[in-house]
Amino acid sequence: MKTPFVTLEKLREITAAYPTPFHLYDEAGIRACARRIRDAFAWNPGFREYFAVKATPNPQLLKILREEGCGVDCSSLTELMMSDRCGFAGHEIMFSSNDTPAEEFQLADRLGAVINLDDLTHVDYLLHTLGRIPETISCRYNPGGTFELGESEEGFQVMDNPGQAKYGMTRAQLTEAFTRLKALGARRFGIHAFLASNTLSNGYYPALARILFRTAVELQRETGCEIAFINLSGGVGIPYRPEQPANDIAVIGEGVRQAYEEILVPAGMGNVALCTEMGRFLLGPYGCLVTRAIHEKHIYKEYIGVDACAANLMRPAIYGAYHHITVMGKEDAPCDHCYDVVGSLCENNDKFAVDRMLPKIDMGDLLVIHDTGAHGFAMGYQYNGKLRSAELLLQPDGAVRLIRRAETPDDYFATLVW
Ligand SMILES: *Cc1c(COP(=O)(O)O)cnc(C)c1O
Repeated sequence: MKTPFVTLEKLREITAAYPTPFHLYDEAGIRACARRIRDAFAWNPGFREYFAVKATPNPQLLKILREEGCGVDCSSLTELMMSDRCGFAGHEIMFSSNDTPAEEFQLADRLGAVINLDDLTHVDYLLHTLGRIPETISCRYNPGGTFELGESEEGFQVMDNPGQAKYGMTRAQLTEAFTRLKALGARRFGIHAFLASNTLSNGYYPALARILFRTAVELQRETGCEIAFINLSGGVGIPYRPEQPANDIAVIGEGVRQAYEEILVPAGMGNVALCTEMGRFLLGPYGCLVTRAIHEKHIYKEYIGVDACAANLMRPAIYGAYHHITVMGKEDAPCDHCYDVVGSLCENNDKFAVDRMLPKIDMGDLLVIHDTGAHGFAMGYQYNGKLRSAELLLQPDGAVRLIRRAETPDDYFATLVW
């Protein structure tokens, strides 16, 4: 059972002021999650979560996270600019990018961000771009092969394919990069890796930590570089389906602590700071897409047409991702109707749900599409001339604040040459 963080009564109040569709965020939920993450890693004095801005690039949300002690993980020019304007500075900004244009390295450097290099060739690219190498620098590791974790009856709990991923350096390249960076003046080093996405296992971070901690010990011995921080990146998932178990960040933090005690402390590296770059785990459950049923269609299947479309939430269309749907006011009604819930794009993959059992939907019903707080609005686009929706913030006191207005046709036409 998944329960929306907003009531029908509240949604009626909100929709009287702001037309559907819109993304709504839950400030109390976001703050509580940021605190759970902080508490889970409180044993590591240098720990910081750098929120992955690409998941939900909204200044008001970034400012909330900043108040909770988070930094930001940026991957583009505009994300750096937004973070700068939100007051993040220096080492509160991680710049984990790939295929990076020179101007982005320049801005990251000007802001004092920690630059996380995606490739060995980026060492010289950065040197030529900046004319020097920053004292603090990080490198992204890709161990290749497949990453598998914990077999269960349904198969591996977590399985992903780093060997097919475009990111990061090989193990040998890491040694070469660290050696060269040190010769060029770097003094404080970090290691980063992102091996699996949306993992639902408390074992993912600890397993990744073991790989990175061992690599850090080896690298420090081989190169004499001081490893100052290790970045576990993102990938901690959320249960999009009601029957899936949620990760427990306290258990995850404890698993990482054990790996730290086993591997880093005996190697004399008990002062290494840990970083995370969560996006989905920190924001995903605390946002939803609110939409209204505007058409029903009975042909070979039963369709419900809503006023949102894949341009507002692309995950179901591109990955076939499941997003739970609550028909507001019918939480206790039997799910005895089988629907495809669709948007209006001229693309047959514009379906929020396929063959989904739901209560009978009447025209005008409000639908909450769950777990859109990360990689939801952010992946929006304007195909079919669709306009991006508003983003609203439900504050702890129950008040609702517009944190991004909906686009208008003028916005859509603004870049055109007539
Ligand atoms: C996307 C991304 C993240 C966030 O990933 P989640 O799965 O949302 O936690 C973190 N770090 C980097 C480098 C990313 O590209």
